[in-house]
Amino acid sequence: MKRQEISKGCALCNKGVMHKNQIGFYRITLDHFIVDLKAIQRVHGLEQYFGVAYVMGTDNNLANKMSTVNFLICDDCMFGELIQLLVIKDKILEE
Ligand SMILES: [Zn+2]
Repeated sequence: MKRQEISKGCALCNKGVMHKNQIGFYRITLDHFIVDLKAIQRVHGLEQYFGVAYVMGTDNNLANKMSTVNFLICDDCMFGELIQLLVIKDKILEE
């Protein structure tokens, strides 16, 4: 990661990501999606008519991405305010 991105600092505390001499920090990517209700209703209708196995074979887009943001979080904030994200991360890594 380049200096320009690191110098933005922690998005939560607004301090540098190494403000307590931590050597680790996190980059969070947050995608916001909105479900496509018409697509869900259409898939549900196809499932009712053709069966789940038929519909599973198709590649239906059921939600649309509205925005994506990336930001940094320092170790201090991650182990404090956002500890549940670490629990999720560890759970996914174990899978
Ligand atoms: Zn922070």
